[in-house]
Amino acid sequence: MGGMDQFNTAGEDITLFRDMLLRCLEKEVIPHYDQWEKDGWMPKEAWLMLGAAGMLAPDMPEEYGAAGAPFEVNQMILEETCRLNLHALSTALNVHANIVAPYVNNLGTPEQKAHWLPKMITGEVVGSIGMTEPGAGSDLAGMRTTAVREGDEFVINGSKTFITNGLHCGLLVLAAKTDPSKGAKGITLFLVDSSLPGFKKGKGIQKMGQHSNDTAELFFDNLRVPASAVLGGLNQGFIHLMQELPRERLGIGSQAIGACEGAMAATVDYVTQRKAFGQSVSQFQNTRFKMAELRAQLELTKAYWKQCLHRFKAGVMSTEEASILKLTSTELQVKVTHECLQLFGGYGYTAEYPISRFFADARVQTIYAGTSEIMKEMIARSELGR
Ligand SMILES: Cc1cc2nc3c(=O)[nH]c(=O)nc-3n(C[C@H](O)[C@H](O)[C@H](O)COP(=O)(O)OP(=O)(O)OC[C@H]3O[C@@H](n4cnc5c(N)ncnc54)[C@H](O)[C@@H]3O)c2cc1C
Repeated sequence: MGGMDQFNTAGEDITLFRDMLLRCLEKEVIPHYDQWEKDGWMPKEAWLMLGAAGMLAPDMPEEYGAAGAPFEVNQMILEETCRLNLHALSTALNVHANIVAPYVNNLGTPEQKAHWLPKMITGEVVGSIGMTEPGAGSDLAGMRTTAVREGDEFVINGSKTFITNGLHCGLLVLAAKTDPSKGAKGITLFLVDSSLPGFKKGKGIQKMGQHSNDTAELFFDNLRVPASAVLGGLNQGFIHLMQELPRERLGIGSQAIGACEGAMAATVDYVTQRKAFGQSVSQFQNTRFKMAELRAQLELTKAYWKQCLHRFKAGVMSTEEASILKLTSTELQVKVTHECLQLFGGYGYTAEYPISRFFADARVQTIYAGTSEIMKEMIARSELGR
């Protein structure tokens, strides 16, 4: 079971929400999930169902219709959905509930919060975040989408790519250049309503895993937003991204921990049943040592993750700590799913056994939200200076 309740002051809430979540997933998600994976997205009704079940951003304030639960409850949702091999759903929720909702709640005006948060909590509006462009991923300061002030409006032109929840997107937290001469210091965030004229969604991007979250390219063609759509301060976008990215990376750490646990549990089941050379695969020393090694690394990573949860809650988790967690937990997830798949033999490569999905879904974890190389850069910066 999940790793959080024993150590946490939010233990009771987590247990209560976990029971509700597991019931909801068992009844409303797991029976349909294979179909969603084939379709390349989950239907809008699924978002509304999750909203009605109280599973979308339960840690947002009660005044917007959420439960006002401790923030760990949201992390538990990310962890458990990955443990149950529902990684695509987990990533959709990480963006909607662990990234976009906190951006609105932390940076928004009272009017912006009252407008967007209630609809995000019911699932009526699905949230996305648009930072990456075809020509600017790791190097965000190189983005070319512009927002030019005209009277009481900004006119936005450009495009974004790899946007999670891009097809369902109702609200986009968009990063655009308001002062292109100033590089990173000329970026502003906007809350963009996707129903506005000039907002176009491309086709869904075909991926090697996490099929049932929709990933899309978005285009802005003379898209006019009111000046009241600015989120946070003008030209403060990069600073806001740096403030909020640690939470995104913590969420990815929670996903990685859940996925490692789920993949290892599926492997234990398999290797204890499968026979070769007159004994079960679990009796080979190689299997035992592999599983022992993975367990040891996972327990150490979990200890660091729990420390990060505590420090985030206390408001003191640093960018370096978030980078260490993202780097180590996602690299471990890739390793665990790779090693576990090997222990399934040929069956591991088939869609019929769960490990193939654990494996394929894991791969992007070391890429999005800052690649492992960028995480190393961040850590090195705090170790050695620039
Ligand atoms: C499934 C999926 C979902 C995504 N969801 C979103 C989303 O919702 N919103 C969003 O804005 N973006 C999203 N992304 C984009 C993601 O964050 C970027 O793909 C990622 O940041 C890397 O950027 P890039 O693809 O342009 O690679 P590049 O930046 O071109 O990197 C190519 C290679 O160069 C390396 N590299 C780059 N700079 C350095 C350096 N300084 N030192 C060493 N190595 C370096 C990288 O690590 C990588 O190995 C998503 C991506 C995927 C695949």
